[in-house]
This record gives sequence, C-alpha cells and structure tokens, in this order.
Amino acid sequence: MKVLVINCGSSSLKYQLINMETEESLAQGLVERIGIEGSILTQKVPGRDKYIIEQPMVDHKDAIKLVLGALVDGNHGVISSMDEISAVGHRVVHGGEKYSESVVIDDAVMESLEECVKLAPLHNPANIIGINACKSLMPNTPMVAVFDTAFHQTMPKTAYMYPLPYELYTKYGIRKYGFHGTSHKYVSAECAKLMGKDIKDVKIITCHLGNGASLAAIKDGHCVDTSMGFTPLEGIAMGTRCGNIDPAIVTFLMNEGKMTAKEVDNLMNKQSGVLGLSGVSSDFRDIEDAAKEGNERAILALNVYNYRVREMIGAYAAAMGGVDAVVFTAGLGENAIETRAEICKGLEFLGIEIDDAKNNVRGKSTEVSKDGAKVKVFVIPTNEELVIARDTKELTSK
Ligand code: ADP
Repeated sequence: MKVLVINCGSSSLKYQLINMETEESLAQGLVERIGIEGSILTQKVPGRDKYIIEQPMVDHKDAIKLVLGALVDGNHGVISSMDEISAVGHRVVHGGEKYSESVVIDDAVMESLEECVKLAPLHNPANIIGINACKSLMPNTPMVAVFDTAFHQTMPKTAYMYPLPYELYTKYGIRKYGFHGTSHKYVSAECAKLMGKDIKDVKIITCHLGNGASLAAIKDGHCVDTSMGFTPLEGIAMGTRCGNIDPAIVTFLMNEGKMTAKEVDNLMNKQSGVLGLSGVSSDFRDIEDAAKEGNERAILALNVYNYRVREMIGAYAAAMGGVDAVVFTAGLGENAIETRAEICKGLEFLGIEIDDAKNNVRGKSTEVSKDGAKVKVFVIPTNEELVIARDTKELTSK
C-alpha cells in the first residue's frame, strides 16, 4: 500500500509518497511559489538526482497535477500509475475541539474544517484548498485529515482554559489547543520504545524546536499540557515569534506606539523571537556564529531562548509530578548541540544531565544523557509525514 502525504501551505506544498509495507519514503518534494511568478517543483528520490520542474502553477490544483505527474514520470517517477496511490493523508492545522483523532474526509468533515477556519485563518484555508484540489483530481481515492491539534485534545480543562471570562470560551472557542501534535505524538512513542517501556508508564517532556517551537508534557501516553495555545504564538520564544509576553504590551503598543492590531500581530509573529532580540537572523546557525564573534545581542537572544525552554521543562515536570525523559526534536532540537546542552544546564536538580560526548550528535535517534542519570534525554528526529501516513493507512484499510 502506498500513501501520499500532502502538507499544503498558502503558496507552497510539501509531499511525500510512502510505501506502508516498509514505511520507506519513495519520493518527497516541495512545490513553491504556487500562484506567484516563478513556480517551482523539486522532487527528491533516494539515490537519484533532484527532479526540478519550473513552470507556471496558477493554483493548488495545478500544483497537485504536477506532483502526480512527477510521481508517475517515466524517467523521474517512482510509480507507473496514479492508481498505485491507495490513499492520501492531509495535514490539517486546526481541528478545533471536534477532532481528537484523524478522520476519513467526507462532506461533513469538510464542513467542520470550514468552521475551524476562524480559529486558524492563516493555515486551514490552504489545507482545505489542497484537499479540494486532490479530490477533484483523484475522486475515487480515500482521503484522511490528520490534525496538528488532535494529540493535545486530551489536555485537562484545568490546563487548556485561560483565566478569562468563561463566555469567551463558549462564544469564540478561546482556549488552549496546542500544535505540532503529530510530532509530539511520534517522538514520545519513539522515546518509550527506546526506553523499552510502555508509554503509559513514563512521563515525557517533548521539545519540538524548529522555526516554530513547542513543548508537550505527556503522561500515561496522553498530552496533559503543551506550550502553544489558542494560536501557535504562545509559549517559548521562537525564530520570529515572541511566545509568552505580558498581554498588556499589546494594548500599550496600540495606545502609546499608535500601532494597529495588524501591525502588532505582525510584530509578534514575524519580527520578534530570536530575530527581534538579536537583530541578526531567525536562523540559529547565524545567531550562533554571531555569538561566537562576541555579538552581545546574539548572545542575549540565545540566553533568553534557552532560559525559556528550561523554564517550561521545569513547569512540565511540576505539571506531571516528575519527569522520566526529555526529548529534543525538529531542526534545532535535532541539530543544535550547544543549545541542547545549555537548555539542560541548571536542570541537574531534576535529574537531567547531558553527556557532552554523547550529545555531540546531529539528526539521529540516540540517548544523550549521562550514564545513570535519573532522567533520560534523547535526540529523536521527528517524522510527521510517517504519522500522517500511518493514520491514513489505518483509517482507510478498515
Ligand atoms: P520548521 O518549523 O520550518 O519545520 P525546522 O524544524 O526545519 O523548521 O527547523 C529549522 C530551524 O532549525 C532553523 O531555522 C535553524 O534555526 C535550526 N537549525 C537547523 N540546523 C541547525 C544546526 N545545524 N544548528 C543550529 N540550528 C539549526
């Protein structure tokens, strides 16, 4: 069985074709600049040169047509016909309170996705467009929606309610939802496997540190808290997002700085985080280089970032009444050796101790804590596409 995984953004689309017998990726690709001049598709197949198609794509349907063409291409493709694709799994950012698990897409599901647009106006519309484009090109292929929010639906009300007037929850659905759920789910399951334990018997803190970043506290195999909230802006500092700040700063900037709501939103989402603090870049590689050259704001940005992750780990150990394992994943978590070490410094009191030699690793699943440390620390590369493909297989082969 082969499953196509689609992750649709407003002007880009990531895809991966996975052979579910072996769980191997047969091909993966990225389409960029959909509906903008300079549209380009790049497909990678293990062991082969990149396949690049540069041609206008006015919309997502055009893009998906090209994706399917690239997959069946006589020279560069990996399958002989579209019929070999048994099902399509779509990443959907927001499933609101309705979806705590993945779901086979039908008309009723499409309606609920539309209802969730107000909760994720930047993301869900692109996901819906991608699903519709696929449906029109592959009308007989079953499709599954896999939600970023679903894994976090097990949070207790105590964790997901904000101390705001209760009516805002009933009227607008204002509560913590959390994101990166597929990643937290995947790495926590892998972590339990590496520990040789049932996930129900371990307390795990997963740190998904990429451009966007979030932590999750996982107890008995269920998420009990996560750092992103009503939107992916809450939580720790990120590449360009501020994460937790005093909410009064928003009204202060509007009153004193004469900024509009849109301007403040843009400032908090796109000009803050380590970019805003350092003034160097949102990419940690650039900030680390600048810090090594003595750039004080770059050093400050790294220190603030590490402090906020460390604080959140402490908070989640408290939320769960202890911690057995900490997992680092995503671009930074998998690759930034010093960041992992710095985050863990000061957490020895919890039993978290990094082994510098073991920690000298990038992008592979391994334990990096000191021998005999009370808490195991792991680096585990995330694989959100595989989670989507597994759910898609499970739901469509029923
Ligand atoms: P996204 O959230 O866009 O999926 P990723 O998970 O790919 O992001 O993470 C991208 C970020 O990972 C980069 O912006 C960079 O800060 C960080 N990163 C990647 N490789 C390294 C590295 N070798 N050292 C430090 N940081 C890295």
